[in-house]
Amino acid sequence: MAKRGGVDASGGPSATPSKLEDPNVEVRACRLGQGVFARRTLRRRSTIGLVTGSFTDDPDAWGDYLIDVGDGYTMDPAPPFRFLNHSCEPNARLLIDDGPGTPAVAVYVVALRTIQPGEELFIDYAWEPSESPMPCHCGADDCRRYIVSKRHARSLRRQLEAAGG
Ligand SMILES: [Zn+2]
Repeated sequence: MAKRGGVDASGGPSATPSKLEDPNVEVRACRLGQGVFARRTLRRRSTIGLVTGSFTDDPDAWGDYLIDVGDGYTMDPAPPFRFLNHSCEPNARLLIDDGPGTPAVAVYVVALRTIQPGEELFIDYAWEPSESPMPCHCGADDCRRYIVSKRHARSLRRQLEAAGG
């Protein structure tokens, strides 16, 4: 996932040990820093890959990339999928599989449409609104202007406009 701005507490890209590519995707530089790109044609509804990473139930866990996997657990994803960027018109999504024994969850990246080799993968972060929402520059026709969930986009915009934004 993309950095939420500010300093990466893990020490930046040089501190990222694990693999940056797999048969389906690779991490490359893009206009937002780093992004995940298709290496081959990824069919609609196909599983692009398993997101690996560390799980925690620490309520104070904080990070730029954390995925809420439910039941109070979050996952800090490892590369390559750590570098999935947001779009208001995503071509992929996360599928959180609870499995039989929560918190034994697995997180997959699934294609929402056919993705061509070389295309960047995007998911919808669907963040809850925060006090300092991140502007979105995804370029989608119906971009929400901020990285927030669809559900919250309109009320957030109204709030910001009322505050003179
Ligand atoms: Zn957008």
